[in-house]
Amino acid sequence: EKFTDIHLGEIIDTNIELCKYTCPTPVQKYAIPVIIGKRDLMACAQTGSGKTAAFLLPVLSRLYQMGPPKDDLEQQAAQGRFNQRKQFPLALVLAPTRELATQIYDEARKFAYRSHVRPCVVYGGADIGAQMRDLSKGCHLLVATPGRLVDMMERGKVGVERIRFLVLDEADRMLDMGFEPQIRRIVEKDNMPVTGDRQTLMFSATFPKEIQMLARDFLHDYIFLAV
Ligand code: AMP
Repeated sequence: EKFTDIHLGEIIDTNIELCKYTCPTPVQKYAIPVIIGKRDLMACAQTGSGKTAAFLLPVLSRLYQMGPPKDDLEQQAAQGRFNQRKQFPLALVLAPTRELATQIYDEARKFAYRSHVRPCVVYGGADIGAQMRDLSKGCHLLVATPGRLVDMMERGKVGVERIRFLVLDEADRMLDMGFEPQIRRIVEKDNMPVTGDRQTLMFSATFPKEIQMLARDFLHDYIFLAV
């Protein structure tokens, strides 16, 4: 079984080849078709299972199919005001730590190579000015730790209203670290409107009651996958 059997598209296939991935891991094999099929997903998967590519590949594939947002063209035309622009990413990946966020971002950059999609990463404990400058250059897929994202939203730098793909990675660790209020804040309907157009994907190593409750609140008619 090969990645090319899943029909993720030409850009993705080329970039998978550049990454030297040949066969999908089990979580990739089962999760990718679910995500391409536009279903919400709760996946129990450990670090090292290939879970990052399991959500990045289908999300990027869908973003490529959608093409560049119309705003991008307007933004390019308005070069002068470029740096003031608030960003409205289409995909958001929430992760518990700077290390994990950076790993996800690095992998996203490889899969987004030679595409219109520009990934960005923001996390706490680092210079917010540099992160804001990078965001201003455009952001379609944002990888973020919850606290820093709330900060960016409050500063008017990022809006989550247009998010079509929401991923909660290592959800159990995010709850252990006390990020539940920030996560709920980001997802609350005043920020992220309730819409049938958004897909939500949760990844967690464990599935305790708190995660089940989060899944009940955030996911709609979801597929449960344990690998
Ligand atoms: P993750 O579980 O997402 O942290 O991935 C663990 C490691 O496996 C990372 O270094 C990935 O680059 C690598 N990896 C993920 N999927 C594949 C694959 N299908 N073939 C080879 N390596 C992979």
